[in-house]
Amino acid sequence: MKHTRHGYWLEEAGDVEPLPGLDGERRADLVVVGGGYTGMWAAWHVKQLEPDSRVVLLEADACGNGPSGRNGGFCNVMWFSLPNMRERWGEAAALAVARASQGAVAGIESFCEEQGVDAWFRRGGYLQVSTAPAHDGAWDEALAACREVSETELVRDLSAAEVAARCSSPAFRGGAFYPDAATVQPARLALGLRARLLAAGVEIYERSAVRRLCRVPGGLEAQTGPGCSVRARTAVVAIGGAAKAPHAPLRNSLTVTSSHIVLTEPVPDLLEEIGWTGGECITDSRSLIDYFRTTPDGRIAFGWGGGRIAMGARLHGRAEVDPDVVTAAISRLREYFPSLGGRRITHAWGGPIDVSPTHLPIIVPLPGRAAFSAAGYTGNGVGPSHMVGRILASLVLDRRDEHARLPIVDPSPQRVPPEPFHWLGGEAIRAALVRREEAELSARDPDPLSGVLSRLPELIGFHIGR
Ligand SMILES: Cc1cc2nc3c(=O)[nH]c(=O)nc-3n(C[C@H](O)[C@H](O)[C@H](O)COP(=O)(O)OP(=O)(O)OC[C@H]3O[C@@H](n4cnc5c(N)ncnc54)[C@H](O)[C@@H]3O)c2cc1C
Repeated sequence: MKHTRHGYWLEEAGDVEPLPGLDGERRADLVVVGGGYTGMWAAWHVKQLEPDSRVVLLEADACGNGPSGRNGGFCNVMWFSLPNMRERWGEAAALAVARASQGAVAGIESFCEEQGVDAWFRRGGYLQVSTAPAHDGAWDEALAACREVSETELVRDLSAAEVAARCSSPAFRGGAFYPDAATVQPARLALGLRARLLAAGVEIYERSAVRRLCRVPGGLEAQTGPGCSVRARTAVVAIGGAAKAPHAPLRNSLTVTSSHIVLTEPVPDLLEEIGWTGGECITDSRSLIDYFRTTPDGRIAFGWGGGRIAMGARLHGRAEVDPDVVTAAISRLREYFPSLGGRRITHAWGGPIDVSPTHLPIIVPLPGRAAFSAAGYTGNGVGPSHMVGRILASLVLDRRDEHARLPIVDPSPQRVPPEPFHWLGGEAIRAALVRREEAELSARDPDPLSGVLSRLPELIGFHIGR
């Protein structure tokens, strides 16, 4: 098994010519900090809306080398978050975001088609399954919320037999199916976007970490080193989990956790045997989710969203690539699909997840509203980052349109505790959640302490789950 920092997808997508770092001083209308999906979509939408605008993008490493190029590739619509959003913002605003997220998946599909980007976009739908009696009907609220707004086709309740017809596993019970969801090859999407940005005239500098973003007359200056800077009227800060670093804009609004993925060798015969040939992406219904998808050559990618919590913004050592999590993920994958037998696991990797207290992405204006920072996708950024990029484009172009008015912009702040209390508390709660959900899987009651601790976030107003 190959344990790589960047994962299989970037390897499969093939090498790209690295872009030079920033040297000297530049001027632009917009400077984008961060070359993940959020920053790149923001740059893309700005160029679509105002093709003559000068856009410079500064990336600390290489575009797409972060979570954007190594995620599970679930390209989801946010209908499963409708109950959470409705509770926070009311029905109309929640519906507007859910519909915008639906438009985002369609937008990614048309981007791939129109721009000739082969990112393996496939609308196979998202299947949420129950794997324990305690999780049966975990989707009922989302189902009811969609029905109440007359969106009856967006999520369907499936019996155990209907779930088995899509993918048969001894662990699966009933489920819910969201037909609009898709999968992508995440690195192909990121690198395709990078190539199309270059073709559209965006200047991209790689290995150009922004060390300081400061106000200057008429705008902002992003500095990467002595004598190396970009002066622009506006800025987008889209640095993922790094937004939790000390002095970074969203440091009080994020938790950084980790997720790991293992990948099998091609097993197309096994996929035929278990009936999983429709390209569905699948999760169980725990808070610390197991997620699965297939690839065109018949591999299974299996991930677990319950990795360790970072102290501050950076995952260190075991949290970044955690051998215990990888071993546990492999054994769980074999429990889901016993006929995998001795088939090989070829790759394993991990990466940071930027979690917001509401589990919804947030866009925050920086003082003076000349710059905006976005993060907090909580493991659901592939589809929504297209929507967030569109919103950022409206904000930096000062278009006061329906995108700029969506309630993920400048939401009432919900703070996480300061370090080290945040890390200590977060790790204790994570461990309690792991114990509670393991007990639920074996149809046991959790020990009382884990039961109480694991529900603490909800008691203090933080969202757990979808
Ligand atoms: C293992 C894993 C599995 C996942 N699975 C899924 C999934 O299946 N579906 C889904 O929807 N989401 C998934 N996610 C989450 C998803 O990948 C993210 O939500 C999404 O990629 C966020 O994009 P982003 O552009 O905001 O951040 P990132 O991809 O983190 O990009 C931020 C970029 O900013 C750069 N940067 C940081 N600091 C600086 C600086 N100072 N100067 C310049 N650049 C800087 C970084 O190098 C990075 O390239 C997963 C994540 C992981 C780790």
